[in-house]
Amino acid sequence: MTTPITITVTGAAGQIGYSLLFRIANGDIFGPKQPIILKMLEIPAAMGVLEGVAMELTDCAFPLLHDMVLTDDPKVAFDGANWAILVGAFPRKAGMDRSDLLGRNAPIFVEQGKAINNYAASDIRVLVVGNPVNTNALIAMSHAPDVPRERFTAMTRLDHNRAISQLARKTGANVADIYRMIIWGNHSNTMVPDISHCRIGRRKALNLVGKRWYKKEFVPTVVGRGAAVIKARGASSAASAANAAIDHVRNWALGTRKGDWVSMAVPSDGAYGAPKGVIFSFPCVCPGDGTYQIVEGLKVDPEIQAGIQATGEELLAERAVVADLLGS
Ligand code: NDP
Repeated sequence: MTTPITITVTGAAGQIGYSLLFRIANGDIFGPKQPIILKMLEIPAAMGVLEGVAMELTDCAFPLLHDMVLTDDPKVAFDGANWAILVGAFPRKAGMDRSDLLGRNAPIFVEQGKAINNYAASDIRVLVVGNPVNTNALIAMSHAPDVPRERFTAMTRLDHNRAISQLARKTGANVADIYRMIIWGNHSNTMVPDISHCRIGRRKALNLVGKRWYKKEFVPTVVGRGAAVIKARGASSAASAANAAIDHVRNWALGTRKGDWVSMAVPSDGAYGAPKGVIFSFPCVCPGDGTYQIVEGLKVDPEIQAGIQATGEELLAERAVVADLLGS
């Protein structure tokens, strides 16, 4: 029998968790032959709700779900974890600015980074979903000095998927025929959606839609989509965020399709003029062995380059806010 994979999900009783856990247990990341142990972390006040979620997971009788652990202790949650999806984060409340949000979230990711360092399996790989994702991932990474840095990533895949869908709607293409979308930078309003390398079949997407649509319609729609969902639904994206987390981990673990890439926020090595020492979204190719490579050698349009500069500066400013809380 295949050895089970241990997947830790934090904030497991939240909205994203309510979609994510069931899809993981159904085999949507690792396929129908890979058994799973789910370790679910919550704050003490949410443990009762988590019990209810676990009851529902039990009631689904998922053949792949070999065991579940429910805990409010990070040491227990990350013990032996092969994969960790960090969803739990302090929610943005009215009147809070980005630095308040960073300050409230930093201690959570300090503690989780340390627990990952000390208790996770040696092949641990981490996806941060809880906002502000890029800097939360940086904080966790900096407190896990024994874990290779490239094992820490943050999610811009929902932005990437939203961008693909907008382009598909405009051109009438199927989403599966759209290749080489890019989201650069921070998962925030400064993100840079870039279709200049996108292909739809053999055709260049930009030639089909024109620069005016790209600038006036596409970019504002992609950047503003999270807020539009909140306005319509009265709550943050949940099922689509869970779906994007599944896509991110599946591609990282099992590979990206031939001729394509995906957007992943990963530790920056300074590629494309992005600042070093932040977690920055780049186009990445995953060969299917749990590694990724930032796509090299792309020609970058000067306006996109200016956007990369601006989103990089925002990430540096975020890093400065939490500088005292960064580990080694
Ligand atoms: P959700 O499950 O809806 O969201 C969780 C986090 O994901 C939020 O920070 C949210 O940011 C973020 N997110 C949403 N969309 C995206 C996206 N596209 N890209 C990146 N990040 C995204 O929140 P809930 O409040 O329903 O649930 C959170 C749970 O976490 C609660 O049950 C709480 O108890 C728990 N929690 C657990 C902690 C722990 O395990 N130590 C610590 C803190 C909280 P945004 O709000 O901006 O949409």
